[in-house]
Amino acid sequence: MRKPMVAGNWKMNKTVEQARELVAQLLPDLQAFHTVERVICPPFTALLPICAMLKGTDIGLGAQNIHWEASGAYTGEESAAMVKEFCQYVIIGHSERRAYFGETDESVNKKVRAACEAKLTSIVCIGETLAEFEAGRTEDVLTRQVIAGLGELTIEQAQGIVIAYEPVWAIGTGKAATGTGANEVIAKAIRSNLVKLFGNSISQQTRVLYGGSVTAENAAEFFGQPEIDGALVGGASLKIPGFLEIVRAAAK
Ligand code: PEP
Repeated sequence: MRKPMVAGNWKMNKTVEQARELVAQLLPDLQAFHTVERVICPPFTALLPICAMLKGTDIGLGAQNIHWEASGAYTGEESAAMVKEFCQYVIIGHSERRAYFGETDESVNKKVRAACEAKLTSIVCIGETLAEFEAGRTEDVLTRQVIAGLGELTIEQAQGIVIAYEPVWAIGTGKAATGTGANEVIAKAIRSNLVKLFGNSISQQTRVLYGGSVTAENAAEFFGQPEIDGALVGGASLKIPGFLEIVRAAAK
C-alpha cells in the first residue's frame, strides 16, 4: 500500500565535481529499482547540476533545509519556492539542524507549511536524544514533536508528508536501533499521534522511514517491519555498493 522510500542525506559532503561523479556511478544501477521511491539529498551547491543529471529518470532530488519565509532579508537562506525549482523533496528538522542551528518544533511547523505551499514533499525528522531514551521519555518526546511539528496542518497538507524516525543516539554512531524496537516506537508514538491529528486514513497512508546507522547489513531488518516504509540514510548513502544494497533490500 505504501511505496517504500530510500532517501540519501549527503549532509555537508561533496563538491559539485565529486557529487557529479558519485551520481554518475550510482545512476545506472539505481535506476533499476522502480518499486522504491529513491531520493538523493546533496548539499545546496550540487542541486542544480544533479537536477540536470536526474532529468528523465524517476529518481527524486531533495534539499536538506529551507526557510519558511517566501523572500526577504534572510542572508544565507533559501525559500521553498527556490528549492522547488530543482527539487521535489526537502528534509526538515534533521536532528543536526535542531542541535547545531537552533531549530525547534515551531520552526519545523513553519517549514513544513512553507514546503506544502510550494508543493515540496517534506521528509520531517523526529527522534529522541540518548538522555531522553535512557530516561524512558521516547514516547513523550515523539508525541511532542509530532503534535507541535505537524499541528495545524490541514488534512490536505498532511497528505504525502514523510516522517523519518531517527533516534539521535543512532545517527552516525554505528549503533542502530533494532527493527522491532523502532517498529514499536513508530506504532505507539508516531502513527497513534497521526491518528489524533488527522485520522486513521492519513495515519495509514503516511510513510514513516527509519534513520540512524542504516547499512547494507542491517537494512533488511528494518524493511521487514510492518510500520517501517524505508530509510533515511546518512553515511552509507555516500558509498555506492552500500547504498545500492539498501535500495535493493527495500525493493524486496
Ligand atoms: C541521517 O543523517 O539522517 C542519518 C540517519 O545518518 P546515518 O545514517 O549516518 O546515521
